Amino acid sequence: MTEAMHQVLVVEDEPAIRTVLRVLLEAEGYRVIEADTALRAEIESRSHKPDLLLIDLGLPDGDGIAVIRRVRAWSPLPIIVLSARTQEERKVAALDAGADDYVTKPFSAAELLARIRAALRRTVVGAEQMGLLHLGACHIDLTKREAHGDNGEIHLTPLEYRVLECLARHLGSIVTQQQLLREVWGPDRIGDSRSLRVSIMNLRGKIEPDPRKPRFLITEPGLGYRLRAAATESV
Ligand code: CA
Repeated sequence: MTEAMHQVLVVEDEPAIRTVLRVLLEAEGYRVIEADTALRAEIESRSHKPDLLLIDLGLPDGDGIAVIRRVRAWSPLPIIVLSARTQEERKVAALDAGADDYVTKPFSAAELLARIRAALRRTVVGAEQMGLLHLGACHIDLTKREAHGDNGEIHLTPLEYRVLECLARHLGSIVTQQQLLREVWGPDRIGDSRSLRVSIMNLRGKIEPDPRKPRFLITEPGLGYRLRAAATESV
């Protein structure tokens, strides 16, 4: 397991199901955060910025759909709904609110894991073939969160992967500071442009041939950043 493994926030009020999900996900190399109420779900999603949200709709203090809507307002993270058979008709409402997929309880472990893998792959960069970033000599697999350069493996932190994922979703286009901060650090930190600058600086140190003259992680003064991949390198 790498330190950059994907983090899944499991929102489910039944302890037995939470435990099953934790064991299942951890065995697959995911890091698991748990929440048992709608309130907790929002707090944990803001503080941990998980890579995927797995959410039950019937929560003791509120509706999972409301949580989905609020999280979706600031984050593009994949959301998978765990719905009971009796909640079938609410699946549509959950998808309308911004969920990407659903799994009906009782779920099969294999099916749930396949859905999670697919959701992470899809949303990592929007297009599956772009899960691989080639930035000069540096090759980054966003799905597996592995990076290699001329001198072997490059260690990127989960935060750095998330910055790259956000930029890669808009490959070649400007991503504003606000957008990066909102998607990577969460809605409570959109004023924290210093963290963003530090993170970009560290990333450049790891992936740019000459960090002082970036070829891939381009600053757009006053606006934000742009990721230029090899294919779009010539300007
Ligand atoms: Ca429930």
